[in-house]
Amino acid sequence: MSDNLTLEIVTPEKAVVNEQAQIVMAPGSVGEFGILKGHTPFLTTLNTGTVQYKDESGTDQFVFVSGGFAEALPDKVTILAEAAEKKSDIDVRRSQDALERAEKRISEKKEGDDIDLERVHAALARAVHRIKLVQGSD
Ligand code: ATP
Repeated sequence: MSDNLTLEIVTPEKAVVNEQAQIVMAPGSVGEFGILKGHTPFLTTLNTGTVQYKDESGTDQFVFVSGGFAEALPDKVTILAEAAEKKSDIDVRRSQDALERAEKRISEKKEGDDIDLERVHAALARAVHRIKLVQGSD
C-alpha cells in the first residue's frame, strides 16, 4: 500500500495542486506543521507563506499560499486559500511592484488618513513572501 497522501490546494479561481505527496509542510497560524499519511485529522487556519511537499518521486515542491485553511485527514490534505501559486508561476516583477505600492502607502500615510493599514500590511507580507520564495530564502 502506498505511503503517500493526496494533496489538494485550491483557490476560488483555480485548482493549483492535486497530486500524491510523501509529506506536506504548511505554515499553520499556530506554527509550521508537517503531515504524513495516517495523521490524526485536524483543521487549522494558515499564515501567509509556503506549503512545501515532497512529490511522489521525492522532489521538493513549493507553493505560495495566503489567507486559507488546511484540513488534514489520514490520507488527504486539502488547502483552501484565497490565493496560491506554484513557485514557478510567481511573477517576481509583479510582487516587486506590489511591495513598492504597499511601502509607499505606509510611508505616505498621514494622521487621520483613511487607509486600511492592516490591509496594506497583508499585501506587503504577500509580496515579501512571494519574492523570498522565488529568490530561495524562504
Ligand atoms: P497584486 O497587487 O499584484 O494583485 P496581491 O498580493 O494583492 O498582488 P492576491 O490578491 O494575493 O494578489 O492574488 C490575486 C490573484 O493574482 C491570485 O490569483 C494570485 O494567484 C495572483 N497573483 C498575485 N501575485 C502574483 C504573482 N506575483 N505572480 C503570479 N500570480 C500572482
